Amino acid sequence: MKKIDKTTQWLQNHLTLLECPVCHDKFQRVIDQQLVCVNGHSININKHGYVYFLRHGVRSEYDRPMLLARRAILEAGFFRGILTKINQYLSKQAMTILDVGTGEGTPIVQLEKARSDVSDTYVGFDISRAGVQLATQLDTHAFFCLADLRQLPFADHSFDAIMELFSPSDYQEFRRILKKQGKVFKVIPTANYLHEMRELLYANNDQHQQYDNSAVRELFAQNFPQHEIVNINYQFAVPQNLRSSMIEMSPLHWGKNVRKLTDAEIQQLTSVTVDVDLLIGTVN
Ligand SMILES: [Zn+2]
Repeated sequence: MKKIDKTTQWLQNHLTLLECPVCHDKFQRVIDQQLVCVNGHSININKHGYVYFLRHGVRSEYDRPMLLARRAILEAGFFRGILTKINQYLSKQAMTILDVGTGEGTPIVQLEKARSDVSDTYVGFDISRAGVQLATQLDTHAFFCLADLRQLPFADHSFDAIMELFSPSDYQEFRRILKKQGKVFKVIPTANYLHEMRELLYANNDQHQQYDNSAVRELFAQNFPQHEIVNINYQFAVPQNLRSSMIEMSPLHWGKNVRKLTDAEIQQLTSVTVDVDLLIGTVN
């Protein structure tokens, strides 16, 4: 089945999950490879199988080479420990799950595989067209789209869970689209996260050597009084052929005082620390 036909079918079956980004009203039908809302606004379904809900262009620094490096690292299991932990908190029943800042889509597909015994509904969105294009090529039942975090094209109280790995949040929008008792799973780095890479890339006194997540935790707590925080800590052994991808996949190498590494230095990156806080908030 062609991607566009698969997506058309998905949209026909899940029309009530979505809302029109122009008038915020319901979509009524899918016709001629277009989503049409009750007020007659229409949005094309792309031939690659995704939908572009953005109303204006958004610049993303995640280009294709970086996204491909990221995919190689994620496929090697970089996020496995994080996804396993999130899955422990998810219902054993089928759920509707949104992945915020889905990038090239691997995390959502890995979660889908881990939960292959339940038929969840998965949606991933990003502002990076290169990311969403790569995501739609994956073997998955997930639906991918380009969308604006501040104006999500999803209906009120339509999702059971929101997953958000190292991405910005809009808590007001999250609360709007989550069902009652729905949950947000937000993953943020701690000071220890990827410290081996920071030490290689930056001088001792550089600001990139430090990171404090307390402000993010505080804002989360204000938005979700009913919440818990779980620390996740493990080492990821970086396969020898993926050490330069490990550096390339992270925004850490964009810093203005970044050191240029030699091949020998890149090969020193045998293992990295994944030390993150998983913030779990419940809508009451
Ligand atoms: Zn509309």
